[in-house]
Amino acid sequence: MNNLQVRDTNKKKIIKFLYAHHEATKQDIAKGLSLSVPTVSLILKELAERGLVQKTGTMESSGGRKPIANSLVYNAKYSAGIEITQNHLRLVLINLGEEVLFYKVVREPFRNENTYYQKISDYFRAFLTESKIDQNLLLGVGIALPGLFNTKTGLLEYSPTLQVRNLPLHVIARYFSCPVYADNEANLAGFAEIWQMDQVESAVFLSVNKGVGGSIIIGNKVYSGINGRSGEFGHMTVEKGGRTCSCGKKGCLEAYCSTRFLTEPDFHDIDEFFASVHTGNPSSLEKWDTYLDYLATGINNIRTIFDSDVIIGGEIVPYLKQDCDLLTQKLLPMNSFHEPIDYLHFSRYSDRAGAVGAALLLVDAFLSE
Ligand SMILES: [Zn+2]
Repeated sequence: MNNLQVRDTNKKKIIKFLYAHHEATKQDIAKGLSLSVPTVSLILKELAERGLVQKTGTMESSGGRKPIANSLVYNAKYSAGIEITQNHLRLVLINLGEEVLFYKVVREPFRNENTYYQKISDYFRAFLTESKIDQNLLLGVGIALPGLFNTKTGLLEYSPTLQVRNLPLHVIARYFSCPVYADNEANLAGFAEIWQMDQVESAVFLSVNKGVGGSIIIGNKVYSGINGRSGEFGHMTVEKGGRTCSCGKKGCLEAYCSTRFLTEPDFHDIDEFFASVHTGNPSSLEKWDTYLDYLATGINNIRTIFDSDVIIGGEIVPYLKQDCDLLTQKLLPMNSFHEPIDYLHFSRYSDRAGAVGAALLLVDAFLSE
């Protein structure tokens, strides 16, 4: 590590510390992070010069001079995120504090055509105008894509959901007048979840929608794998020769834990399925129980491999929270190390996580400058 990297790491640590504590004196920061006070002072000075840190004097004092506290200026910059799904666009605007200031979903089925990309840009411009922020403070826009996105080449290599291959990001980006970043939706959702978790630098995110995916975060960075296919937990084999999966293979986790498993063939959507569960319909109850068996298997496998926190996201979350005890009962006997299930968390952002994570790409780049 050279000096620049050490400083960058310390800067990020201080920013994370301020996120977690809202305000802190330089002595508190130095003590909390085992850094010297001059190092902390130097970094705080640089952050203050960029308008990112302000001094506040509101901390409790036991008499005498009030200590000077530092806090982050969340609204110093803004960033936007857009998640592209098969039928919708999810637009989000956040500040440096990862606070969601505006959120909007519009129905716009995906088409790999210029008119569609022009439309995204039109929606985006209208969204920004509606938000009334100072657009000079906008860092740019991140795009969350459902599929394998190669961040080195900027190619969406394959998306079964959108049914496209090798779509270059610039095809979309040329309709925007601000910087455009992109990545895979599940990677970004995981990134959003862990961004402000105090003391957590590594975790695994499991995203459960019609598709089942995820991401692996080690030391606050997404681990992409050699081919960008890491965290494709939906295609772990959980039943040899079992149900056919969307990938064409048999017995994948997704074949059992996709929300399609619950809804097809009897229900239009997930709300309808759970309405049936809540009326005590025996076949729906049995289906939900089977679903949770497989989900627990997947979660236990992930925990066994990574020995880290596991965060569940996606549209299943609100229903899973209601039956958390049932899931825990299934997980407990599977665990070889007799661990409590305190490693399991639910997403803070549910279906917004992908768009928030996309917006964070620009925040992360900005704070790393
Ligand atoms: Zn599969």
